[in-house]
Amino acid sequence: MKIGIDLGGTKTEGILIDDVGKELSRTRIKTEKNYDGTIQGIISIVKKFESDFGNSTSVGIGMPGAVSADSALVKNANSIWLNGKPFRKDLEKELDRKINLENDANCFALSEAVDGAGKGHPVVFGVIIGTGTGGGISINQKVLTGRNNIAGEWGHIGLPNRSDEEKKFVSQCYCQKSGCMETYVSGPGFANCFNLKHNTKYDSHAILQEFENNEKRAIEALDNYVDHLARGLSLVCNILDPDIIVLGGGMSNISYIYENINTVLKKYIFSDTFHTKVVKNIHGDSGGVRGAAWLS
Ligand SMILES: [Zn+2]
Repeated sequence: MKIGIDLGGTKTEGILIDDVGKELSRTRIKTEKNYDGTIQGIISIVKKFESDFGNSTSVGIGMPGAVSADSALVKNANSIWLNGKPFRKDLEKELDRKINLENDANCFALSEAVDGAGKGHPVVFGVIIGTGTGGGISINQKVLTGRNNIAGEWGHIGLPNRSDEEKKFVSQCYCQKSGCMETYVSGPGFANCFNLKHNTKYDSHAILQEFENNEKRAIEALDNYVDHLARGLSLVCNILDPDIIVLGGGMSNISYIYENINTVLKKYIFSDTFHTKVVKNIHGDSGGVRGAAWLS
């Protein structure tokens, strides 16, 4: 039995699966917004599963951000109370065992690669398009972390070949750079580009409602969105050449993406043939917690 834990900013979810991925138990607690409280929450989940079901063979944790390859301290986490802390070391001490700790987008990619939409494909690129934009790479059902623990992090590379209009109707990214993929293809980014252009105050759901009503400007916004996503993914394809690309996060629920992106993406690929497909995830919101359990 394996324990997976998805550490989010507001909730911490735990899952217990058997060796073929069957869910045996699941629990959810509120994330304490401080370091000691977060650690105690994780310990309580592990102890609860093990007192109910017996000892587990592994504990994996998916979290925002990454563990620095140099200092072993947490970096880039939007749960900021974790940054700069020896999170893995402290958990291993408290639980008296090895802990697998991995970025949550990498967990998503792994989950879809093992028994989700990427099953049977050697190289899977998992994409998160939700509140933020991230990505992870799974190769032969293992996470590729990279030398600096940032492999697959495509949210803060620039949208290629931006037009003047695309430079005009976008906000600066929180990372201080301009033109990041996240500012175009995250949910808030998509809405923000639309609002700047049309002087509205919509969220992504309101734009999609206009799209359902066949409003011209919303159809144009969705077409632009698909094109932005395809241009960003073309960089990944031209370097990694994955077998399949699996989308997750709130924006991945838009079916219009899948009806169009494979044709658009092919235009930007440096190859006569292109067999890689962009598909929707299978595990939905459970991708992170399932992927954490599959870590080893
Ligand atoms: Zn950025």
